[in-house]
Amino acid sequence: MTTVLLSGGMDSAVALYWARLHRESVRALALDYGQRHQRELVAARMIAERADVPFELHRMVIPWAPMRGAVIPGRNAHLLTIAATHSYAHETTCEVVVGACLADAQAFPDCRSGFLESQARSLSLGLGTDVAIFAPLIELTKAQTVKLARELGAWDALSLSWSCYLGGERPCGDCSACRFRIEGFREAGEVDPWRP
Ligand SMILES: [Zn+2]
Repeated sequence: MTTVLLSGGMDSAVALYWARLHRESVRALALDYGQRHQRELVAARMIAERADVPFELHRMVIPWAPMRGAVIPGRNAHLLTIAATHSYAHETTCEVVVGACLADAQAFPDCRSGFLESQARSLSLGLGTDVAIFAPLIELTKAQTVKLARELGAWDALSLSWSCYLGGERPCGDCSACRFRIEGFREAGEVDPWRP
């Protein structure tokens, strides 16, 4: 079974559509770890419904998350472990798809391919079964992800996705997530389909 870590942002939305095309028996998993931008969890549910993929939302606790704001060191390490055991709980074929992209890999050590490969090896040992971690966007810029969304028919899902690190009514347009998104659509020559 393939578990897609669905944050509700545009990258994981595109990763979900990639998984739907390339993997079998896909489920989406969203994790509420106390993030400030709870809005993305609402988006995650809507995206999974749009993609017609079973969706689960679970609470986990990273007790210091509220103190850290948007960036939580090691967050991906936590999430991948939960996702792999979630996949294992459903079926012993154990795959995880994560929307880590080029910008994430540059910014966060636990979004780099070396770590993902190592984590897959560790989880395979820990679970006693082969664990595969796929990161289909790991070499893609935001603009390339926008183009891939077109190819995968994920445009509707992009209109539902939420990137802003703040939990307002509308994206703030100024946080790093908003700026990456704006720049990505601009570079791709597309208009962001997001709507309230
Ligand atoms: Zn923002």
